[in-house]
Amino acid sequence: MERRRLIELDRKLLWRPYTAFEDHQEQEPLVIERAEGVRLYDVNGQSYIDANGSWWTNTLGHGHPRIKAALVKQTQSLMHCAFAGISHEPAVLLAKDLLDVAPKGLSRVFFSDDGSTSIEVAIKMAFQYWQQNSQPKRTRFISLSNAFHGDTLGATSLGGVQAFRKVFGPILFDVLRTPEADDAQGWEKAIDAIEVELKQNATSFAAVIVEPLIQGAAGMQIWPASLLARLHSLCKKHDVFLIADEVFTGYGRTGKMWACDHATITPDILCTAKAFSAGAFPMAATLATDRIYDGFKGGKERALMYGHTFYGNPLGASIAREVLAVYRDEKIIEQVNQKAPLLAQAFDDLGAHPGVTRTRHLGLVAAADLGKNNYYGNAGWLVYEEAKARGVYLRPLGNTVYIAPPLVIGNDELEELLATIAASIDAAYEKAPWS
Ligand SMILES: *Cc1c(COP(=O)(O)O)cnc(C)c1O
Repeated sequence: MERRRLIELDRKLLWRPYTAFEDHQEQEPLVIERAEGVRLYDVNGQSYIDANGSWWTNTLGHGHPRIKAALVKQTQSLMHCAFAGISHEPAVLLAKDLLDVAPKGLSRVFFSDDGSTSIEVAIKMAFQYWQQNSQPKRTRFISLSNAFHGDTLGATSLGGVQAFRKVFGPILFDVLRTPEADDAQGWEKAIDAIEVELKQNATSFAAVIVEPLIQGAAGMQIWPASLLARLHSLCKKHDVFLIADEVFTGYGRTGKMWACDHATITPDILCTAKAFSAGAFPMAATLATDRIYDGFKGGKERALMYGHTFYGNPLGASIAREVLAVYRDEKIIEQVNQKAPLLAQAFDDLGAHPGVTRTRHLGLVAAADLGKNNYYGNAGWLVYEEAKARGVYLRPLGNTVYIAPPLVIGNDELEELLATIAASIDAAYEKAPWS
């Protein structure tokens, strides 16, 4: 279809995620035709480095031959069947391979479709566990300020980014949220606040949920592993479950397989999605301990009444299993640690550029704040346009410009990306300085 006609139909027929009507009508979208490695190609053949790894999913590069082959092979035998009274090899073998690399002590896998559903599963597991294991007053959850756990209603309840939850306030369940934190001391105070609450009211809480080490949607806010370890001890002491939402941080993004590994902890429940299928298929998993699983034994009325149509889908499962094999064979985590210093240096340097107020990085994630922290701010979008003109897709989070590129990005490509970000920030600031 001709490009103009496609955009016209898009504007007429689609309802876009996270997009104001006016922006949909006025902003010029990229029309992407194909992607390969770290680059997206538009219908005119122009290429763009995929700086956010296609919404944080793409770790192995676009069109990885082994991922494609795994998908094609699976299509030839079984594309989907109900997982009710039926089992199949892709789902079972994936569970086995996943538990092999999961933090020790996680022993059960529950499949779902995306990050949000993996969180809904975690909420229901934790809640129902206490309901039927003699502590039904443990009904509340604790989450961190500015947390993001997805857009379904349960996940929205847990979330703290106002932009995503404000309007839905009246239909969300009540969650205890820690005070705002934007430096190491702030984070310490947040954990202190959890400690105080647990000392007084532990028996009213089902679980604490965190994005370990990096709060993605909050603007790539990074917090210390030592505090994660402390939180883990607090949860153990007061017997409140710790849910690790590793939907963004898992699969090597931070330089280890799981962000939890930086603190050598095993959460009671772990959620994985996004890189779980390397951006090739909607698929997610929620992992739990024997203790939690055993709390559902003892009769039909004790079963976890949760599930989705595409549970354990063979195509997704085959892909996710091949992803783990590629991680092993291509030493993906080692690659992250080899490239991380390059990215760290470039973002440290960016801190000295006019208009940049703060930078941070961990593994293959880095962010730069432009002026005031504001989700509806415009500075990030000015830089986005400059980067687009220079062949980089650099979608911001408000006034925060960040990168989370495919983990297999080559050193040359990474250098090109980093140089383009610096040039784009400088050019945007020169044209229209922000405060
Ligand atoms: C993206 C994200 C989610 C939600 O995942 P979806 O696949 O968009 O539903 C949940 N938690 C975290 C930490 C995320 O980054």
